[in-house]
Amino acid sequence: MREILIGTHNRHKTEEISRLLAGLGIAARDLNEFPHIPPVEEDGKTLLENSRKKANTYGGLTKLACLADDTGLEVEALGGAPGVYSARYAGEHCSYLDNCGKLIKELGPSVKRTAVFKTVISLYDPQTGQIQSVEGALEGEITREPRGANGFGYDPIFLVKDTGRTLAEMSLEEKNMISHRARAVQKMLEIIRKHA
Ligand code: IMP
Repeated sequence: MREILIGTHNRHKTEEISRLLAGLGIAARDLNEFPHIPPVEEDGKTLLENSRKKANTYGGLTKLACLADDTGLEVEALGGAPGVYSARYAGEHCSYLDNCGKLIKELGPSVKRTAVFKTVISLYDPQTGQIQSVEGALEGEITREPRGANGFGYDPIFLVKDTGRTLAEMSLEEKNMISHRARAVQKMLEIIRKHA
């Protein structure tokens, strides 16, 4: 495998994943290079379904090996919400800030604030059409207000267990040592090395 398509338009995800792939001798590309390909509708009921759909669709259209993630934030006191619906939690076309604001509001003064970030990553093999998937998770708590300027999405309100810092208060290198996405990518690296 000489090159790999990261099945996302999100430059933050591309940067996180491509750094984790560095050293494998595989060129990482993303969907911003393929403006004619529209984003797939993320209508699966699970992270696994959405991740497989993205890998299969983008890999099939480009004939490239494709690595696609789907991520959700599960908050215990909200019965696992927003989960697979994390992207549009505050409504269609909402901003990251809208989503963080809604989550803090929904939790209210609750003292029970534990949450887990989950990422499922799927790899599409253009030679066989097969897809393999792995999962990574990160435990933490939802803060009462946003903290930190790094990262994206829910990072400013996700306090990483045993660190006293939100993901947005960590550098990209620090986030990539521990994150849900990094853990999933590390598992996938074993599979990628076998294809290399
Ligand atoms: P998706 O995997 O792009 O569908 O992500 C779902 C939602 O979770 C979006 O609102 C993302 O911004 C958010 N999200 C995904 N990955 C992360 C992350 O690593 N940190 C914080 N938020 C994330």
